[in-house]
Amino acid sequence: MATGFEIHDLVWAKMKGFPAWPGKIIEPKPEVKRPANNKKVHHFIFFFGSENYAWIPEENIYLYSDHRDKFKLEKRIPKGFKEALEAIEDELKEKPFIKTFKTKELPSIDEELAQIFPGKPSGSPQKDYTREPLKGKKRKKTDAGKDGNKSMETQNTVRRKRMSNSDDNPKPKKAKVIAKVTGSPSKLTLSPDHKLKPKIRAELPSPRPEHNLPMSPPSHSYIQASLSPGNASASTQIEETLLKVKPVAKPSIIPTPMRIGFLGLGIMGQGMVMNLLRSGHEVTVWNRTALKCRDFVKSGAFKGNNPAEVVQSCDITFSCVADTTAVKDLVFGNYGVLQGISKGKCYVEMSTIDEETMQDVAEAITARGGVFLESPVVGSRVPALEGQLIILAAGERKLYDECYSCFEAIGKKSLYLGADIGAATRMKLIVNMVMGTVVAGLAEAMAMAEKVGLDQEDVAEVLSVGALSCPTVIHKSQAILSQRYDPHFPLQHQQKDLRLALLLGDKVEQPLYVASAANELYKKARRLGYGESDISAVYRAASN
Ligand code: NAP
Repeated sequence: MATGFEIHDLVWAKMKGFPAWPGKIIEPKPEVKRPANNKKVHHFIFFFGSENYAWIPEENIYLYSDHRDKFKLEKRIPKGFKEALEAIEDELKEKPFIKTFKTKELPSIDEELAQIFPGKPSGSPQKDYTREPLKGKKRKKTDAGKDGNKSMETQNTVRRKRMSNSDDNPKPKKAKVIAKVTGSPSKLTLSPDHKLKPKIRAELPSPRPEHNLPMSPPSHSYIQASLSPGNASASTQIEETLLKVKPVAKPSIIPTPMRIGFLGLGIMGQGMVMNLLRSGHEVTVWNRTALKCRDFVKSGAFKGNNPAEVVQSCDITFSCVADTTAVKDLVFGNYGVLQGISKGKCYVEMSTIDEETMQDVAEAITARGGVFLESPVVGSRVPALEGQLIILAAGERKLYDECYSCFEAIGKKSLYLGADIGAATRMKLIVNMVMGTVVAGLAEAMAMAEKVGLDQEDVAEVLSVGALSCPTVIHKSQAILSQRYDPHFPLQHQQKDLRLALLLGDKVEQPLYVASAANELYKKARRLGYGESDISAVYRAASN
């Protein structure tokens, strides 16, 4: 088949559902599979800015010199687009002559939507009510009207994840990004049959209206729960400062174009969602107490009405809720996660729970064709806000890889511990067993110091300059000194984790004298009413 394109031609290359992107035709990489559809001429495109490459059908490739300004974006510019334009312009300047073709037009967004959602009238794309703004969320009206505008936004919000080791235009900056989260996924390329390809994404089923959702025994209904602010745990009131807290500066993250759902806006969920939004991810949130979604919607998140709806409308849904009961309610309850799972839907459980429940959830998700990853996190409120968590993961490796940009946004390190569901939970419980015993020991030390006539401030200072100096000892000493127990890690969660660690110890007949004793101290603190306070309030039990 005749084609006017040649290797080294500078082009706009367009993947369905995405804006045209500056690129260059290069020699194919042997590791990237050729497209199955041999009838169409494809070219192998290197994408500037993101430095990834993919096979693109010729009908979606446009000579850059013929369309230099035509596809420049003015609104909602995806990350890397500006850099891509600069790079292609630089290359163009170096060309000895400017090649030209007869101009051809890109399909309009409406034409494209008509292809993606055949049968739907243009201007009224797939109904997606999780993407409707809450009151107060500003959306500019365009001539296309409200629906048309929404569809444009949805299209433009989509961002590309492109990483590459192309030697056509290597950029050390990207290498740094990849090295950032260790245990990181293998680099992904957007070969046409890759799961991330926009076509598949666009074909996701629309969320069903609530009355169409399948019903299960009424163990828990999220319709009622979301209407009842009284359910809110006192420890998780949204702080006014939340949206102002700055994350630790990171090299630019290229957000996955996948739609991200997040269930649970407690202390941890709030920080994680803010960092996902800041790094450009498209996030749909849900929380049992719906009020907590408000600030996130103001910051650009969409709001789901129940967990099933979030799962249905997103590609990957994360959950981070209090405990085993909460996870069971969330997953197996009415309008719960399971009711939204269909083939290929991805679910990542970040809550700290027992490994049996984690395995039950994994089994239920995969039995419905879903993909599962357990992924508890290490770090508390401040690391969550700063995007400095440690992510422990086990389960489906491919899903772990697909979470790469999300983990980059929320964490400083991620570890994949294998396919065995439960491995990450066991790791998390061991880490928290250490945390619980250290803080309980500190609380007893501070209580005893007072009784033997030492100044607690002196004790804190000695600890802070010696070998025991670490963030936990320093911050918890300060909390004890100031008697301020605002929850960073709620004490009731620490006691739950110690209880789960002790159960794990039982299973393998590992004696846990120290952890058992610490657990008793936390139980006493709970009885004294400090369950929702920070773990440092265990001092109250020690000094009482
Ligand atoms: P949190 O502040 O107490 O928030 C708990 C979240 O769970 C809230 O969103 C709460 O909703 C939701 N929830 C509770 N019961 C529920 C139910 N039955 N159905 C649906 N949602 C329910 O907890 P967190 O500190 O964010 O911790 C979340 C998880 O991460 C826990 O498993 C914890 O052990 C773990 N973790 C915490 C830390 C930390 O330092 N905080 C660190 C690492 C891991 P409402 O808003 O409606 O109450």
